[in-house]
Amino acid sequence: MWRNKVKEYEEDIINDLKGLLSIESVRNDAESTYDAPVGPGPKEALNFMYQLGERDGFSFKDIENIVGRIEAGKGEDLLGILCHVDVVPAGTGWETDPFNPVETETSIIARGSLDDKGPTIAAYYAVKILEDMKVDWKKRIHIIVGTDEESDWKCTDRYFETEEMPTVGFAPDAEFPLIHGEKGIVTFNILQSGYVEDNDEPEVELKAFFSGERFNMVPDTAQAKLLIKEQMTNVVQKFDLFLNEFEIEGETSIDEGFLNLTIFGKSAHGMDPTLGVNAGLYLIKFLNRLNLDKYASSYVKFANDYLVDSPKGEKMGMKFATEEMGEVTTNTGILSYTDVDGGQFGINLRYPEGFDFDQSLSRFKAEVAERGFEIEMDKHQLPHYVDKNDPFINQLLSAYRDQTGDQSEPFTIGGGTYARNLDKGVAFGAMFRDSEDLMHQKNEYITKKQLFDATAIYLEAIYNVCVSGDAK
Ligand SMILES: [Zn+2]
Repeated sequence: MWRNKVKEYEEDIINDLKGLLSIESVRNDAESTYDAPVGPGPKEALNFMYQLGERDGFSFKDIENIVGRIEAGKGEDLLGILCHVDVVPAGTGWETDPFNPVETETSIIARGSLDDKGPTIAAYYAVKILEDMKVDWKKRIHIIVGTDEESDWKCTDRYFETEEMPTVGFAPDAEFPLIHGEKGIVTFNILQSGYVEDNDEPEVELKAFFSGERFNMVPDTAQAKLLIKEQMTNVVQKFDLFLNEFEIEGETSIDEGFLNLTIFGKSAHGMDPTLGVNAGLYLIKFLNRLNLDKYASSYVKFANDYLVDSPKGEKMGMKFATEEMGEVTTNTGILSYTDVDGGQFGINLRYPEGFDFDQSLSRFKAEVAERGFEIEMDKHQLPHYVDKNDPFINQLLSAYRDQTGDQSEPFTIGGGTYARNLDKGVAFGAMFRDSEDLMHQKNEYITKKQLFDATAIYLEAIYNVCVSGDAK
């Protein structure tokens, strides 16, 4: 029945989606103004959504041109549907114009079709269709539309400073069936503090060492610049043996009397560092075999003792796991050292609900202080978790199962979705298990089947939550 209802609207859905996709809503700080805090594109896309709402008879509220909502329903409780209309830049290599949507028999191709404009339009139409059916609403609905999801979440930060937190909510910005838990995500720097007076006679002086630029990525290259007091060929030979021993790629070069070492690893998302090969930590492992100057040696030994071969927080004393949300993961995403400024490690650590991070951190802080290192916190997002037996989850899930026949269970992830902005919120669609995931990539598209199926699922789900109040 719900899928048939959607059939009546298919043409309208496509047209409105194409309208939204035609707006290049990429954050642009160079052109930001008070009226368009993240640039004119995102603002135009936000206005586009308000216009749809107005056309269809909904009221809407703008909050400082960066976020807003379309309102529907009635009642005391509030369902939040958290969407975003900003997109990442197109990048290169597209076969079509990324901001001039192309409709084929089966798909719509454009930047944002999957993330998150397609799902946003699907959720919007679900509400609109129920409104057209004149259902007897038992809950209010806020379709919250953000414009800075892809960067800093300034939109939702601003929104929840003053606006009502929904009783329950979902974000159609990930995948089906449903994500009900997300790990806590912490980024911090470990800094080498005191300079060590160097009276020793090292065979090798480490002048500089660099690897990685982002906390949440496994670095795929690492470089070290060495001044060699002994035979240079000796070190080169050791390095070649090391590369062979661990079956990794690397190279050496000599430049103005310095020996440069490079290791090539494999990049991966920091949420599961075991999927990558951390070039920086491999190079540390090699440097640890040399007789280095004391300052560098203190840096290298620290890394070797706490970070090398420790993707699950083992060496930091933070190994922890729960059955539902999995293990602590630690990614050393940034490594840098110079003989002048000392060293730094940029860590991205993710942990399941139940892990006492603050307590672990204070113990770790005290431990590293003894070795002349200090910890500087960057960001900390707490774990996000909704009990999978909660009736709300069941109302969403039963709609998905009813429409697809797929009985898959809800799951938890190491990443962070937009849903964590909601007190009691989950990520719900709109990728299906068989959808090709081209989010943030070239030639992003959504199939019409996916778009309409998602609309039907949202339709039934919102009906369950806001009208019938139960789930089959
Ligand atoms: Zn998104």
